[in-house]
Formats: sequence, C-alpha cells, structure tokens
Amino acid sequence: MQKGKIGVSSDNLFPIIKKFLYSDHDIFLREIVSNAVDATQKLKTLAARGETAVSVENAKVRVSFDAEKKTITVSDNGIGMTAEEVEKYINQIAFSGANEFLDKYKNDANAIIGHFGLGFYSSFMVSHKVEVITKSYKEGAQAVRWECDGSPEYILEDAERAEVGTDIIMYVNEESEEFLDKARLNEILNKYCKFLPVPVVFGKKTDWKDGKEVETEEDNQINDVAPAWTKKPVDLKDEDYTSFYRQLYPFGDDPLFNIHLNVDYPFELTGILYFPKLKNTVEVQKNKIQLYCNQVFVTDSVEGIVPDFLTLLHGVIDSPDIPLNVSRSYLQSDSNVKKISSHITKKVADRLQEIYKSNREDFEKKWDDLKIFIEYGMLTEEKFEEKAQNFFLFKNVDGKYFTWEEYETLIKDNQTDKDGNLVYLYTNDQDEQYTFIQDAKNKGYDVLIMDDVLSAHLINKFEQKDPKKRFVRIDSDVVNNLIQKEEESDKLSWKEREELSPVFQAVCPANNGVHYQVDFKPMGESGQPMVITRNEFMRRMKDMSKLQGGG
Ligand code: ADP
Ligand code: MG
Repeated sequence: MQKGKIGVSSDNLFPIIKKFLYSDHDIFLREIVSNAVDATQKLKTLAARGETAVSVENAKVRVSFDAEKKTITVSDNGIGMTAEEVEKYINQIAFSGANEFLDKYKNDANAIIGHFGLGFYSSFMVSHKVEVITKSYKEGAQAVRWECDGSPEYILEDAERAEVGTDIIMYVNEESEEFLDKARLNEILNKYCKFLPVPVVFGKKTDWKDGKEVETEEDNQINDVAPAWTKKPVDLKDEDYTSFYRQLYPFGDDPLFNIHLNVDYPFELTGILYFPKLKNTVEVQKNKIQLYCNQVFVTDSVEGIVPDFLTLLHGVIDSPDIPLNVSRSYLQSDSNVKKISSHITKKVADRLQEIYKSNREDFEKKWDDLKIFIEYGMLTEEKFEEKAQNFFLFKNVDGKYFTWEEYETLIKDNQTDKDGNLVYLYTNDQDEQYTFIQDAKNKGYDVLIMDDVLSAHLINKFEQKDPKKRFVRIDSDVVNNLIQKEEESDKLSWKEREELSPVFQAVCPANNGVHYQVDFKPMGESGQPMVITRNEFMRRMKDMSKLQGGG
C-alpha cells in the first residue's frame, strides 16, 4: 500500500470548492458518469483499431446507490487505469485543475456560481470519501484501489477487480443525503445524461403487477445513445424530427418546422432547432434550447449565449467547442460561443428564406405563429434584419399577405401624404377600430394588421429606417388629417374653377358639371365618385380641354 500527499498548496481544498459550487451540487453525477462514458468510448476506439481484445460490445455504465451504506457507485467497462495512471490523472491532473481553478477565481467567487464542473473532483461536493477501484485494459494490469477522504492525503493499493473498467464509489456526506434517493437520481440522470452515447443503466425496469410496482429482469437504460441531432439530415424523416421534439418536450404541441444544424468548420456544431407553435404571443416561453457538449447536457439557460430572439426557439445545440467546465460569464464571453451564435442566426435566416421561397403558401399559413420570432429577430439582430427583408410579410385586414415590395406597389399610388410619404395604415384592434377600418376601405385604402406585442417597436424601426414611410393607426386623428388634407387639396382654387368652368360647361351635362364644382370628384363609370388625386383630376380636365379646343 502506498500513502501519498496530493500536491496542492492548500491543506484542504474541499470546503472552498463546496462553497463555490453550492448552487449546483447535482452536476457531480454528470461529471462522474461522463468520465465513465469517455473511458468506454476510448476503449471502443482502441478495439475498433484492433489495439485491444477486450470486448466492448456490451459496455454499459451502471449507476447504483445503497441507502444503508450511503454510497453512490458509478461503474464502467471502459479502459480503466493503471496505478501510474491513477497517480497521474486522478492525483495530479484533477487536483492541479482545482488549483488552477482556485487561482483563477479566488477573487471572483460570483463569476463561478452556476454552471461549473470540475470533473472527477466534483464528487467531493457530495462525498466525505471517494474510492476508485480500477483495472486497466492493458495486458496483465493489476487492479488498484484509490481512496481519499477529502484531505490532500490519499491511499493507493492493489485490489481485486475481475473485469477491465472502473468503479467510482462515493460515500455520501450528511448534507447530501438527498441524493440517496431513486427519484432524485433519476431526475439528475434525466437532466444530464439523457443523450449520452453509451448506455447508462440505473436499476431495473419496473412493471405493474396487481397494483404493485415490481422490478423486471431488464436493465433500466435511461438514455438514448443516438439522438436525432447526431444523425445525418438525409437519414431523417419529418416524423423523426417530430418524435425527437416530443422526446424533448413531451407536453408541447408539434412544432412548425425544424432547422438541422450541421457544421464542421470553423467549429464543430450539430443540433436541431424547432420553431414552436405558440398558443398566444404573450406567453412566449424563453430558454427552451438545451445546450450540449458531446451529448452531455450543459445548460438550458442559453440567454447571452445565443442571440436573444433565438431563445424563443426550442431544440438542442451540441458543440464540443462549447466549454463544459466553465462558468456562465465565461461562456458568454467565449469567442467560440460568439461565432456559434452568429452562425446560428445566419442558418435560421437562410432556412426561413428557403421555406418562404419553396412554399410560400405554407409559409403564409405559418406566418401568424412565426412572425413573433421574425419580428423579434429583426428588432434585435441587424444581420437577421437584413435577411428578413426577403421574407417578412405584412398581413392586411382581409387576411392577405404581402412582402415589403408587394405592399409598396399596392399603396404607392393611393396612400401618400402631401409630402409624398407612403402612408401605411394599420389597426391594432380590429374589433374596436371596425368602423374606422370600414371607412378607410370604402375610401379605397388598405389596412394592415399590426397588433402583436412587438408591433409598436417594429413600426418605430421601419420609420427610422426609411423616413419616407409613415405608419398611421387607423383611428388616430392623423388619419383624418391626412384624408381631410387630401380632400382639401382636391378642391380647386377659384382661379382654377374659373379656368375650367368653360370645359365643364362643354363636356359635362349641366348637373354633372355642378356636381364637379361641388365636391370636385369626377364620377366613375358606375356613377360612384372615383377616388383620384387632385393632380390626376387636373390632368384629365386639361386633356379634355385640349380635346375641346381641338374639336
Ligand atoms: P476530464 O474528464 O476533463 O479529463 P476529470 O477530472 O473528469 O477531467 O478526470 C480526470 C482524468 O481521470 C480523466 O481525464 C481520465 O484520464 C481519468 N478518469 C476519470 N474517470 C475515469 C474512469 N471512469 N475511467 C478511466 N479513467 C478515468
Ligand atoms: Mg471529466
């Protein structure tokens, strides 16, 4: 047996670590299980290369607990460690990592509250003693046992272990006894380990017999080793995306559509994002995207990590370039994370454009659900706004949809104010403003619906971008002024009346001539007054007077 002292400067680090990590004790299991998964993957890699004859086919990670002995054990059939490797990886690397961590953050305790893992070492957050029993895959390796009670002193000795692999046995401390509970462990495993790439087993599956829950022979595997985002888009059908969505959010409505992210360069990133169907825009739920690092759950609080408007989306982002063992504030300032964020923005915009282009009808159908994301994105991300010009839609009170360009064409002859600005009339409450809407429609104007929580901001943005565009609410005085002014300007000056009087006399029957002089609106063919601008009216009159002169 060998006794040693771990090379750290502080006599006892654990109280400090515990204090720092207080808010997030449950990550210990993520760290220990993901180490077991790593060890298994390493052995699989070696086996695939023919560098070991150890069987990896049924390799599983097993999590168990013993309420009486107050232990939680994580066992794997991975590569294991030799005595030298335990010295190197457990004693030195893990602990030097802790030292580095302390150096870095000793003046900045707040920065690390939240998501922070410290690998193997985090087991001491919940344990007064940790034991490692491990046997390396290397031929003739002697199994060893390492034990440490949280002080820098450790024990390393020969041990018995039939198979290659590692057991990590955590002797749970008094404050952490909540973890000696099936439901609690299930909850943590579900949160962090649900999509790990190696089967993780927690107890046996249960069945109901005579109203009682009984254990079956079958392993209770808690994870899906090949979640949809790890597959190629060509291998997935619409149903696969939908069923993966249900796996993530069992109680949600089916999503509108998805975006499969698959990037190799300049960073690695995979994932599937979903546009959720919202029941109403007020109850928009943020922070549904789950962030993974090599299929290990990192966080579902992605604010500050992805652009704000994308926090409205659902789904999964997985990138080995998203550092696992760091604080939130570090994540937010990390340059990789920033690159990832702008890349996703671009992808989302491209996908929207693609859907718009390939199936406008479908896009219009989904617009009412989609628009809140798009509007939010336009308001908050310049790059996104540029692209959104191509697929942003206006909807009018008749339920018709228009692109920017289309709408401009629609109103440009008919809805301008005296300064030549385009006037976009809109309603934010179709019931309340019903009569105003009807009035405007009778006058031949078009009225848009802009009634969601972001409309006011969006209007602001549009007007700022192009001061030649005015958005006028249908029931505001401004509309009246606008319309009155136009009517005002439709009236002919006395001089003009004098000039035109002979023309009226000559071309129109007497009463019509009078009519013109009263409201100065020429009659259309149906006998209804035509709505045309004053200039247009004058032009027509002059044409007629020329005709008269000529005839
Ligand atoms: P990291 O996983 O980031 O390398 P950890 O502190 O979690 O850091 O683990 C330190 C090292 O200890 C690992 O890199 C690995 O070499 C070794 N190790 C930990 N757990 C196991 C295990 N179950 N099987 C084999 N090696 C392990
Ligand atoms: Mg680790």
